[in-house]
Amino acid sequence: RQSLKIGLIPADGIGKEVIPAAKRVLEALGSDIPKPEFVSLLAGWEVFTREGYALPDETVEALKECDGALFGAVSSPSRRVTGYSSPIVQLRKELDLYANVRPVTSVAANPGDKPDVDLVVVRENTECLYVKQEQLTLTESGREARATRLITERASRRIGKMAFEIALGRPRQQVTIIHKSNVLSVTDGLFRETIRAVPKLSEVNGKYDSVKVEEQIVDSAVYRLFREPEIYDVLVAPNLYGDILSDAAAALVGSLGLVPSVNAGDNFVMGEPVHGSAPDIEGKGIANPLAAIRSAALMLRFQGYTAGADRIDRAVDQVIREGEVLTPDLGGKSKTQEVLDAVLKKL
Ligand code: NAD
Ligand code: MN
Repeated sequence: RQSLKIGLIPADGIGKEVIPAAKRVLEALGSDIPKPEFVSLLAGWEVFTREGYALPDETVEALKECDGALFGAVSSPSRRVTGYSSPIVQLRKELDLYANVRPVTSVAANPGDKPDVDLVVVRENTECLYVKQEQLTLTESGREARATRLITERASRRIGKMAFEIALGRPRQQVTIIHKSNVLSVTDGLFRETIRAVPKLSEVNGKYDSVKVEEQIVDSAVYRLFREPEIYDVLVAPNLYGDILSDAAAALVGSLGLVPSVNAGDNFVMGEPVHGSAPDIEGKGIANPLAAIRSAALMLRFQGYTAGADRIDRAVDQVIREGEVLTPDLGGKSKTQEVLDAVLKKL
């Protein structure tokens, strides 16, 4: 491969401050990756208010020509706005990015030591309550709202395979299935059962036999996550539980500004920091770029460029460990640009 074509979608708010930082880091990798070539693309609330659509067709078409992408954050309004729907949810559908993978790792005091928190949330990204089939009906006793929660064997199986695959590449090799099948025995029952069956599939051919499978009811999983995060390695969850669990896990490592993710399918991967557009700090130049930079590393990891990914992660860990150049969310006084410069120097 001569070059690596990466779509950049900073979108809204601090997305426009942290995605350029991630781009600079990719450019600085040199021969660890094919020469990156960047394509700037639009999506989000701002383009919606200007042009009437949050995800222009050109963005989707251009992404299909790319080898990967980095997405910043969107400012989705909490109220309902006619014609608006979150571009990130749409993109996951259009590109069939069925897995949202969020590693949450603390930085150990000394290089080589075991970190206190070192887990990965693997969230199903296409169904559950996010199929967004909601109905409001008027009854004699008032309004009644209903939603459809979809769990399919196909989606559960592929997210299960992704979780086992990720576990295989980690020292602990443990998968914990998150569910609530004591109450939702049909939907969560299917999720749990399908994932339990993954290692026994004939096409898997015993590949996952070394992986230890555990399971945990979602509410107690959150409790234990806060009390003893070290018991977890890879957690696999339906969409909504995974969403909540991964934000909760992010709290364990100090700031949303540190936690990366990728949206991954079989043919495409899009890095995306877990945080939102942070309107409270937008434009001040103090957004933490490390989540976006780590998301670029994670994208590379999924593309198979392990050496480049490792180099970025080591540089970020060093900057955090030294603690001299940190943004205010981590108790420091530095600007986005200074943190970027510190990472580039360590590279
Ligand atoms: P948020 O993640 O934007 O911010 C939460 C808090 O964390 C804020 O105090 C913010 O300043 C801080 N923070 C987040 N990222 C930071 C960073 N990199 N450096 C320093 N501080 C950081 O969540 P919110 O305030 O609930 O949402 C704001 C907007 O973002 C909303 O419109 C929401 O819809 C959107 N959002 C988008 C995504 C996404 O694009 N995937 C995810 C979450 C929220
Ligand atoms: Mn979320």
